[in-house]
Amino acid sequence: MKFVNKYLLLVALIVITLLLLFVHNKGFYKVLNIPLDNNERILGLSDASVGGDSMMKVSTNAEGTSFNCNIVNKFQWPFCQLQIYMIPFNEQDKNSLQHGFDISEYDELFVDIKYQGPKPELLRLHIRNYNPAYTNLEVDSNSMKINEFKIEANAYKTKQFINLKDFYVVPWWGSERNLPTELKLREFSNVPLIEVLTTDHVQEGELTVNINEISFRRLYISNENLLFTIIAMWLAAAAGYLILQLHNYRSNLKQARLSNNRLIEIMDALKLEKAQIEEMSKRDTLTGLRNRSGLSLHFTQCATDLLEQNTPFSIVFIDIDFFKNINDLYGHNRGDDILVTFAQIIHSNIRIADKLGRWGGEEFILICTNSTLNQANSIAEKLCRIIQQHLFGSDLQVTASFGVAEMYPDESVKDFIERADKALYKAKAEGRNQVQVSV
Ligand code: GH3
Ligand code: MG
Ligand code: MG
Repeated sequence: MKFVNKYLLLVALIVITLLLLFVHNKGFYKVLNIPLDNNERILGLSDASVGGDSMMKVSTNAEGTSFNCNIVNKFQWPFCQLQIYMIPFNEQDKNSLQHGFDISEYDELFVDIKYQGPKPELLRLHIRNYNPAYTNLEVDSNSMKINEFKIEANAYKTKQFINLKDFYVVPWWGSERNLPTELKLREFSNVPLIEVLTTDHVQEGELTVNINEISFRRLYISNENLLFTIIAMWLAAAAGYLILQLHNYRSNLKQARLSNNRLIEIMDALKLEKAQIEEMSKRDTLTGLRNRSGLSLHFTQCATDLLEQNTPFSIVFIDIDFFKNINDLYGHNRGDDILVTFAQIIHSNIRIADKLGRWGGEEFILICTNSTLNQANSIAEKLCRIIQQHLFGSDLQVTASFGVAEMYPDESVKDFIERADKALYKAKAEGRNQVQVSV
């Protein structure tokens, strides 16, 4: 994903967050419903079992379960008690209760209870926990821990939930047993039995209790987990977004560097091309020698050296003799070849510091740097002899005339060249194949 629309991401995050909050608020619960229509698992017990006269009758139908109780003040603590077993059990086999429900994961308990009878309308709820650490039903029938909550029975017909944290272990149960403190605390890890029973304040007379629902519930996602999930989601999105941005930034930077390098390469190539074009513009295409423009640079340089450093500066004007005839006799192509050969001969017999150029047609100018008239004259004489002695092809002899001049300090380049040209003219007039100097 090269491009992440941050606004889209933000909207998606907000929508998901609102959705989570909405679903959470609506209640996304895990519920454990305790069946109340099973005769075999619901039993009644009254103080008649311990010598009292209170009588109890349990009836169970599809609606739920109810019990009718006639409290008689004979036993010291008269009571009626409804036992709701959450698992199948066998009265003969005390061990049948050892595998109850772990309801410690639930947060709340809902009971729908109706009470009719003498006031106060109080009942006790017991959640009994079986733990081999303290439970041994063979020896002590009351050894399942009693987690108790006293309710105002009629107050719980609507969906009011009792927080399981409001249950407490009845003090007498704990004090009757010699248990470490941690085992005397509220415990719901293994619950086989729930009890609904009258309280110590129960008054003599008849009472009826209808129980329509007992259920445990907890939020699938706790508030803490929801908060954590939302924060984690936002942080992960922010981190992901930043990483992607960093990645995009890096690849853009890389791309920019590549483009930059490419531009530099193109610029270098253009510079080279420009230099080549400039160089070519200063060169004669036939002979490869400097052309007028190529020579002018050296003229300027040598004239400056003469003026500023008094460095002597001479030139040799060279013109091939009767070149028109050569063309006429041998053709223009051969004439071209001779021009090239002529240029090569001259070029290979001059000093490195000297600059040779084609002035035009069959005319050449040799710039003799740091040379007096005499020195240039010597060079011209030497070149004149070399040309004369060279055979162009197998048979053709070509001669040239040379005009030599040394620049005066107060002279213009144009006048200087003209003087050399005059000397050349003189060489032509005096019979060609010779050197003449301008003084
Ligand atoms: P001179 O001894 O008086 O210099 O006689 P010339 O024939 O050399 O002089 P002229 O100026 O009469 O003729 C020059 C000839 O050079 C004429 C022209 O056709 C020829 N020429 C000039 N440039 C070129 C070239 O590039 N190639 C060829 N083949 N011939 C050229
Ligand atoms: Mg000429
Ligand atoms: Mg000529």
